[in-house]
This record gives sequence, structure tokens and C-alpha cells, in this order.
Amino acid sequence: MAEHYDVIVVGGGPGGYTAALYCVRAGLSTLVLERMTPGGQMATTNWIENYPGFEPGIDGYELSEKMKAGAERFGAKTIFGEVERLDLAAAPKRIQTTSGEFLSDNVILAMGANPRPLGLAAEERLRGRGVSYCATCDGMFYRGKTVVVAGGGNSAAEDALTLSKLCQKVYIVHRRDTLRATQSYLKPLAQAENIEILYNRQIVDILGDNQVSGVTLRDTQSGDTADLACDGVFVAIGRLPNTALVEGQIDLDETGYIRAGEDTCTNLPGVFAVGDLRTKPLRQVITAAADGAVASKFAEEHSAALER
Ligand code: NAP
Repeated sequence: MAEHYDVIVVGGGPGGYTAALYCVRAGLSTLVLERMTPGGQMATTNWIENYPGFEPGIDGYELSEKMKAGAERFGAKTIFGEVERLDLAAAPKRIQTTSGEFLSDNVILAMGANPRPLGLAAEERLRGRGVSYCATCDGMFYRGKTVVVAGGGNSAAEDALTLSKLCQKVYIVHRRDTLRATQSYLKPLAQAENIEILYNRQIVDILGDNQVSGVTLRDTQSGDTADLACDGVFVAIGRLPNTALVEGQIDLDETGYIRAGEDTCTNLPGVFAVGDLRTKPLRQVITAAADGAVASKFAEEHSAALER
């Protein structure tokens, strides 16, 4: 017989474990399904300085462990295993995993998103050593330094503006001759004296043995290459939400994010989306955690309605 829970949370990042904490404290039996290591993107973040209450900051892995322990203290359970199939329209909802099948009245989707990588060998090697995917998280480490932002969309524009307040010089490297970023960013970008946009350039290599020392840029028109010295590379070329599992079952936007508002409710009753995989303006640990808390309220209401 498959175990039946009030709530199953898919994904053990900050959104997932905050949802579990609130659900279990509301008296709902709660299981977190986590593929490998709790924490999601947070677990691989060296130092988190913008999650309140931790001064002078906290190691991302440690915060992940704390969130897991915090939920488990009240009785939330974690099972490690890969989710293979979800049937979100069934009653109860069915979840097939490598650790067996589970049933649940509510499913909270918290599988997160991953930054889209440039796909360079040096990028992985220098990740956390000058290569970053989050200006809000890591910008502080580059105070007074020179950085490159890869991309030409709203994220790249926003990251460049954030970094321009900290860094001596910010280069935006964009592969085309016009930015994709919306009009509202163009004036602030032009007004920032320390931002320079390098159009028609592609980063083809990241330089440095143990720490980023520069990038090699290829001119997309002439094919010429040239090195540019810098201390950090912020990759902002989009994100890939981990929503392949629910594609075809739930409403996604054109970029693959689950359509859900601040109430975290999706188009399916009893199915909620929290954290980075949901359509939202700011993807951070604190906003994911807030989503988790909100989802618990609606899961509780859904469970109460099922009992009536
Ligand atoms: P995006 O809009 O998809 O832009 C990605 C940028 O990266 C594009 O300029 C693209 O170039 C470039 N790019 C993609 N793959 C690349 C590669 N392999 N090498 C080099 N460049 C590459 O992604 P985003 O900026 O992360 O934004 C995602 C969504 O969030 C968008 O809908 C955006 O509007 C929204 N967002 C909104 C705000 C806001 O409203 N404040 C802030 C951030 C994000 P091309 O232009 O040549 O395709």
C-alpha cells in the first residue's frame, strides 16, 4: 500500500522546507521528496548575506541543513529519491518515485530553477571562484572591482545596475547589436557612468587558474577574438525552470515557469507552486521561503474542504 499524506512537497530547497515547516505545524502530515541534497541552489551558494537573521551571513549548505532540521523537528519527513511521474489530476494525487509510490491530497511543487549556463568548460571549473549566477547574492564580493555581465535581457540589465553601485567597472557582453532588456532599463544603463556595453560579442572562454582573471571575447561579426581582464563574470542569460515533470498537466508560461500568483495556487486544486519555478519578479531564498509559508495556508484550506 502506498503511503498517503496530507501534503507532499516535491523539492527540498528553501521554498519546499518552509512549506513543510508550516504544513506540519498546521497539523498536516507532510513528506518532502528530495532528489539528492537538500537546499537546491541555496546549498551550492558559498555565503548568503541577504537572508535576514544571520550576521555576518551563513554558508548556503548550513542554511539548507538548518531549514531541513527545522521542519523535521515538528515531524516533517524527508525521503530521498527521484520523482519519475506525477498524476496531479488524480484524487488523491499520485507520485511515482525511485523510492516507491506515494499518495497525497496536496502537492507543493518546489523543484526550483537553474541558471542557464554559457556551456564553457572553464565556467564550471571557476564557478564560485569568480563565476557567479546571482548579482544580488555575490555582488558584494566585487566591491571596487571589474566585472563582466553576460546577457542582454532584463536580468543582465538588472544585474549590471546592481553591480554598478558596487564595482568600479561593469561590462555587459551581449551577442547581438540591440539589448533584449525592456525600455525602462535603457536609460539607467546609459546614465551609469561605469557600465559599458560590448555588443556583438560572445564569451568564448573564461580565464584564470583558481580565480577568474578575464574572459576571451569573440566578435560575432568579424570573428576576431580578444581578451578582457576582469575579476568576476556574472552569467545572466536566462534560467531554466525545473518543470519538465509537470509539463502538459499544469499551466506554464511561455518560458516554462508555472503560472501561479502570490497565493502560489496553480490551475489545479490542491497543487501549489513555490519558489523559483513560479512566475514571480524576484527569485531569492527569502521569496521562496515566503511562498512556502503562503502555500501551507491554501493546502490547509484544501484539506479542510476535502474533509467537509
Ligand atoms: P531572457 O529575457 O531570456 O534574456 C536572456 C539574454 O541572454 C538574451 O539577451 C539572450 O540573447 C542572451 N543569451 C541567451 N543564451 C545565450 C548564450 N548561450 N550566450 C550568450 N547570450 C545568451 O532572460 P532573463 O533576462 O533572465 O529574463 C527572463 C525573464 O524574466 C524575462 O521574461 C524577463 O523579462 C523577466 N525578468 C524581468 C525583470 C523585471 O521585469 N524587472 C527582471 C529580470 C527578469 P538574445 O537577446 O540574443 O536572445
